[in-house]
Amino acid sequence: TLTTRLQGAFQKLRGKGRLSEDDVKDALREIRRALLEADVNHVVAKDFIDRIRERAVGQEILQSLSAAQQVIKIVNDEMTELMGGEQVKIAHAAKPPTVIMLAGLQGAGKTTAAAKLALHLKNTEHRHPLLVAADIYRPAAIKQLQVLGGQIGVSVFSLGDQVSPQDIARQAMDEARRGGFDYVLIDTAGRLHIDEALMHELLDIQRVAEPDEILLVVDAMTGQDAVNVAQHFHEQLSLTGLIMTKLDGDTRGGAALSVRHVTGCPIKFVGTGEKPEALEPFYPDRMASRILGMGDVMTLIERAQATIDEKDARELEAKIRRNEFTLEDFLSQLQQVRKLGPLDQLLGMIPGMGKMKQLQGASVDEGQIKKIEAIIYSMSLAERRNPDLVMKSSSRRQRIAKGSGMEVRDVNQLLRKFDEMRKLMKQFSSLGKNPSRALGGL
Ligand code: GDP
Ligand code: MG
Repeated sequence: TLTTRLQGAFQKLRGKGRLSEDDVKDALREIRRALLEADVNHVVAKDFIDRIRERAVGQEILQSLSAAQQVIKIVNDEMTELMGGEQVKIAHAAKPPTVIMLAGLQGAGKTTAAAKLALHLKNTEHRHPLLVAADIYRPAAIKQLQVLGGQIGVSVFSLGDQVSPQDIARQAMDEARRGGFDYVLIDTAGRLHIDEALMHELLDIQRVAEPDEILLVVDAMTGQDAVNVAQHFHEQLSLTGLIMTKLDGDTRGGAALSVRHVTGCPIKFVGTGEKPEALEPFYPDRMASRILGMGDVMTLIERAQATIDEKDARELEAKIRRNEFTLEDFLSQLQQVRKLGPLDQLLGMIPGMGKMKQLQGASVDEGQIKKIEAIIYSMSLAERRNPDLVMKSSSRRQRIAKGSGMEVRDVNQLLRKFDEMRKLMKQFSSLGKNPSRALGGL
């Protein structure tokens, strides 16, 4: 992958005090090859390498950084710049509703992205969005949006597939004003290829709905094709941004790196899975460090904070300090961690853990959590609150094992884990007040 290739290039610089011109040349050659292999547009790759060369060769040596660290830092900075530098937020019209039109080729993930965006607006920004089903061609497209809307609790406006997309858009706008919706998200039709008919239809919808944002949804897996598609759509529609989907898959990363430079359009969100929750605002700096394999601690922390109630976290911390952390708390922590997303995906965001996760597979799987749940549910309330009761009594452990359909061995193992966890959390909590640190212990 791009990440391993880049790390290989950096590895060769390790242990060197000063960078000679040859060192830099070799590293740059490898970085360039890695970029091209990841399907980065060749003009973009060339510009990128040129900028890094300029900075790496001519620079004053920073005493605090090793040669390898300096190159990594330069590459990181330039990658961040390449992807636009700053995060670009979704539009917010002074006079509601804010209208967002989603466009893209068939299968890019428009309908899914519309639902994801609605959920994001609803949960994170506390908005009241309306989804509009304006794809009248693809069989079951309307139904798909309705099902998604039902799942996330967002209204879906549809007039069936016998009314033109412009008319749907027009009436949807009336509905939004009547219903007090502050965002209107229009899901449009796609084609397998860009064609005139598609563009005309999109332009018609655009005229009627006067969107504040036209977001192109592109599939990261299609690499440079995604960039070409973006360029074409941008020429016709004047896009305001992109949603890049399927970054969870085996993508080579090239599209995310090139598209801003080629089109000038910012990526606003990335899709990282099929579920409605799998959407993240796009931060160039975080994406750069993810590509460079430095983990994405910020995203992790943010996600943890969104999921875990601040007040709960503070209470938990106080408990840990007082050494009152119980099996009940343990269970609720496990359940909260699970809400953050698949554990292996979370591990991948922690620096150094990406490699560990194969090794650790067994200790973090869902089955394990289910087992722990079953055991704790088989305890009495008194036992959950005072684990020492269980630790000290083998008859209680036998009863619990039987009740949960597990072996006594499993119960013992859980208690050992809990005890370790309690110690670990105590250590973490004395490190600082950040609740996400306590979470890191899990
Ligand atoms: P549309 O034709 O552009 O409306 O595309 P859809 O929203 O129907 O999505 C096409 C397929 O891609 C569906 O199977 C989605 O579940 C899947 N999909 C969409 N976004 C993502 C993503 O971010 N990650 C993954 N893995 N799959 C996605
Ligand atoms: Mg669709």
